[in-house]
Amino acid sequence: MSRPQQITVLGATGSIGLSTLDVIARHPERYQVFALSGYSRLSELLALCVRHTPRFAVVPEAGAARTLQDDLRAAGLSTRVLVGEEGLCQVASDPEVDAIMAAIVGAAGLRPTLAAVEAGKKILLANKEALVMSGALFMQAVRKSGSVLLPIDSEHNAIFQCMPQDFARGLGAVGVRRILLTASGGPFRQTPMAELSHVSPEQACAHPNWSMGRKISVDSASMMNKGLELIEACWLFDAKPSQVEVVIHPQSVIHSLVDYIDGSVLAQLGNPDMRTPIANALAWPERIDSGVAPLDLFAIARLDFQEPDEERFPCLRLARQAAEAGNSAPAMLNAANEVAVAAFLDGRVRYPEIASIIEEVLNLEPVVAVDDLEAVFTADAKARVLAGQWLSRHGR
Ligand code: NDP
Ligand code: MG
Repeated sequence: MSRPQQITVLGATGSIGLSTLDVIARHPERYQVFALSGYSRLSELLALCVRHTPRFAVVPEAGAARTLQDDLRAAGLSTRVLVGEEGLCQVASDPEVDAIMAAIVGAAGLRPTLAAVEAGKKILLANKEALVMSGALFMQAVRKSGSVLLPIDSEHNAIFQCMPQDFARGLGAVGVRRILLTASGGPFRQTPMAELSHVSPEQACAHPNWSMGRKISVDSASMMNKGLELIEACWLFDAKPSQVEVVIHPQSVIHSLVDYIDGSVLAQLGNPDMRTPIANALAWPERIDSGVAPLDLFAIARLDFQEPDEERFPCLRLARQAAEAGNSAPAMLNAANEVAVAAFLDGRVRYPEIASIIEEVLNLEPVVAVDDLEAVFTADAKARVLAGQWLSRHGR
C-alpha cells in the first residue's frame, strides 16, 4: 500500500472525534492523523496530541494556543498550534490532507467543513447542522469540487450502504421509492406528557442506546435530531421530504432502510456503536475492522416499530415544516434549536419550551432565499436574536 492517508479530525475531543481516533489507531498502516481540533476540553486535546502526534492542533483562541504549544514542546512534540476558524479552515484544506472528519457540533462546523469541500477533500460528515443550514450551497460545492461526501450519521450511513451501487458514482437513487429513517424515540418515548415539563438535562442526556455529546443527546430526546436528519437525508439522497418516513425503532439495531419500487426493502443492521459508520466511511469502498462486536440477534430477540407521535415530539413537526419550506427555514430552525438547547442544558428553559422557542422563531421570521453563505449566516443570526428575545421576555 502507498503512504498512509492523512486525516484531519475536526472536533477531536468530542464523542465522534474520539471514536474516529479509536478506529484510526487500529489501522496505523492506512491512516495518519494530520490535525486535531478541540474547543473547551484542552487537556484532553493535549493527551490526544501525545497519543496521535498530529502535525497541527487547533484551539479557539490565542491564550489557549500558547499554553497548548508550551505543553506540547514540554512533551517533546513538534505539533504546531493554530487558532480559531482560520486555523480550522487551514487544516481542513491543507494540500497534504486526504480526508476530514467533520465532527464539530453545530453551526460552528460549517465554514471549516465547506473549506474542505472546496479543496476537494474526502468529507466524512458527522456535523449534520452544516448540511441542514446550507444544503443547496453545500451540495453545489461538493459537485463543483468533486469532493467525495460520505455520511457518518448512522442512519445516513445505513441508507448510503443500501442505495443502488451506482449511487456513489453520481447516478442517482434509481428505483428508490422511500427512505425509512429509523429513530430510537430517545429517553422520553414513554414518559407521561405531564412529566415532560420537569425533566432535567441529565435525564434528557441519558440516551437508552447511544452515548453522544450533550447537544445531540437533547436533540435525540426531542426528536429534533430526527428532524435535522430528515433534512440531511433529503440533501444527501436527493429526496423530497415526503419520501422520507420516520419510523420509531427502540432497539436501534436497524439503522435505516431503503424501499425500492419493486417492493424490496434493504436495511443495514449493527450494534449501536458509531465506530461502524466511521470505519465504513474511512475505508469506503473497502471494509476494515472497527472494533465493534458482532451483532447477536439471539440476544436482541425482537425488533419493534412504531409511528412517531408529533404531539409528543413537536420538534419533528417543525423540522418537517422547515424541510418543506426550504430556503432559509432550515438554517433558522437549526439556530433557534441551538439557542434553545443551550438554554435547556444551562437550566434556563424547560424541556417543552425548546419547541415553543423554535416555533415562535419560525413564525416570526419570513422564509427568504439563501443564495450565498452570507445569507445563510444572516438567517442563522436572525434566528439567534429572536430566540434570545424569547428568553429575555420570559426572564431567562
Ligand atoms: P460532542 O459535544 O461530544 O463534541 C463536539 C466537538 O466539537 C468537540 O470536539 C468540541 O470541543 C467541539 N466544539 C464545540 N463547540 C465548538 C465551536 N464553537 N468551535 C469549534 N469546535 C467546537 O458532540 P458529538 O461528537 O456527539 O457530535 C459531533 C457532531 O456529530 C454533531 O454535529 C452531531 O450532531 C453529530 N453526530 C454525532 C453522533 C454521536 O453519536 N455522537 C451521531 C451522529 C451525528 P470540546 O469538546 O473541546 O469543547
Ligand atoms: Mg443519527
